[in-house]
Amino acid sequence: MKIAIFGAGLTGLTLGYLLKSKRMDFEILEKENNCGGLMRTLQEDGFTFDYGGSHIIFSKDREILDFMLSLLGDNKIRNRRNTKIIYKGYYVKYPFENGLADLPKEENFECLYHFVQNLIKKEKEELKPPTNLKEWFYHTFGKGIAEKYLIPYNEKIWKYPLEKISLEWVERIPNPPLEDILKSSLGMETEGYTHQLYFYYPKFGGVQALIRSLEGKVNGKVVTNFEVKKIKREDGKWIISNNKREKLFDKIISTIPIHNLINALDAPEEVKNAANNLKYNSLITVMLGLDVKKLNDLTWLYIPQKDALTHRVSFPSNYSPYAAPKGKSSVLAEITCNIEDETWKMDDEQIANQVVDELNRLKIIDKTKVCFSKVKRMEYAYVINDLEYDKNIRIVKEFMKRMGIDLVGRFAEFKYLNMDACIKNAIKYTAENA
Ligand SMILES: Cc1cc2nc3c(=O)[nH]c(=O)nc-3n(C[C@H](O)[C@H](O)[C@H](O)COP(=O)(O)OP(=O)(O)OC[C@H]3O[C@@H](n4cnc5c(N)ncnc54)[C@H](O)[C@@H]3O)c2cc1C
Repeated sequence: MKIAIFGAGLTGLTLGYLLKSKRMDFEILEKENNCGGLMRTLQEDGFTFDYGGSHIIFSKDREILDFMLSLLGDNKIRNRRNTKIIYKGYYVKYPFENGLADLPKEENFECLYHFVQNLIKKEKEELKPPTNLKEWFYHTFGKGIAEKYLIPYNEKIWKYPLEKISLEWVERIPNPPLEDILKSSLGMETEGYTHQLYFYYPKFGGVQALIRSLEGKVNGKVVTNFEVKKIKREDGKWIISNNKREKLFDKIISTIPIHNLINALDAPEEVKNAANNLKYNSLITVMLGLDVKKLNDLTWLYIPQKDALTHRVSFPSNYSPYAAPKGKSSVLAEITCNIEDETWKMDDEQIANQVVDELNRLKIIDKTKVCFSKVKRMEYAYVINDLEYDKNIRIVKEFMKRMGIDLVGRFAEFKYLNMDACIKNAIKYTAENA
């Protein structure tokens, strides 16, 4: 039996590695000329940038974390997060609710007051359970934290009305403990998202080092520059075409975005419409090199202000000292948008110039020190769980099941999956099916 794996991102390559260890016959078809999808890295002029956005290696699942680390061997560094949110010029410790004492007193008080008021109302059952993301922020954190940070930041990253985003993934986030909020407001040290407080990063080669290691393990099984464009079923075989040549397989496992897969199939109108209504946003990254020995000691910084394009900047030269040439440092700015937006239509130079001006204005960089600049774009960045999500994904997945095509990975399953979840799902899939 010959298996086709569509896509050579993390999920496709992990599946290949697992199938190979079971001595199964497979081929991975990848549309780009290199593997890695969102986890590709640019190495130029001594700088190393993860151009699918800032990636760090962490997991609550020790086994999966060990698997990722084993792929890196000695090529890894363990870092402690030092992340802030820039709010009206103040650097507030991340997560925001753990950094309230960094705010001016009046604003700190507002956050604490509304958080406590909310708790009292919840105890008295005076608060309606939330039905969408916006309501959830008010319900969980109170008006102060919600309006000062969570709502503006999330509006900026999702580029979608928060009242139309469901509770699909937030329900997994625990409520912040009262004790932490009180301590944070008084300036006593607390930490949130502790599973991510320490993280790993490749010493050399950026996050794509993980991909390179996997590629070595599935050597010779990846066909690059093969964009799956047409899929037909004939005489019990799958015929896969990139409109230039055809390949024959017995089985398909797809890790490519569900929209691309549907477009390659003869799907009924209802299924096509459901897939078209599955929402996602896109990402532009601006990579900047600076002629500055040490810019700061931050890992990354959130920028909720609406008057700056980027919502998050990270500092790759603080992840690994080898990510920038000696005596230089680097910044990676992320901008989410929809591909119909004005931002996506701007040319690369315009975007880079605007980001440099804005970071200069926010005093994050000195624009006269910029010595490297490049822009990249990724169409698929974040899945948006809008209120129609459940209905649409069910229609699409039921169709795929009827067709006998299996889906694994972030945009194939169309779920908010980090690297560890992609690996976990590939392992689960192989254990159950191969
Ligand atoms: C901004 C950002 C930051 C992130 N940071 C982190 C982090 O810090 N830590 C973490 O654990 N995770 C992080 N992630 C998540 C992580 O990037 C993903 O979980 C992972 O890369 C998904 O891998 P994948 O193989 O499922 O999908 P992809 O990487 O999207 O791979 C899909 C592949 O399919 C190919 N393809 C598409 N269409 C076709 C076609 N028609 N024919 C053939 N091939 C096709 C693509 O070229 C691509 O190579 C982040 C994601 C984003 C967007």
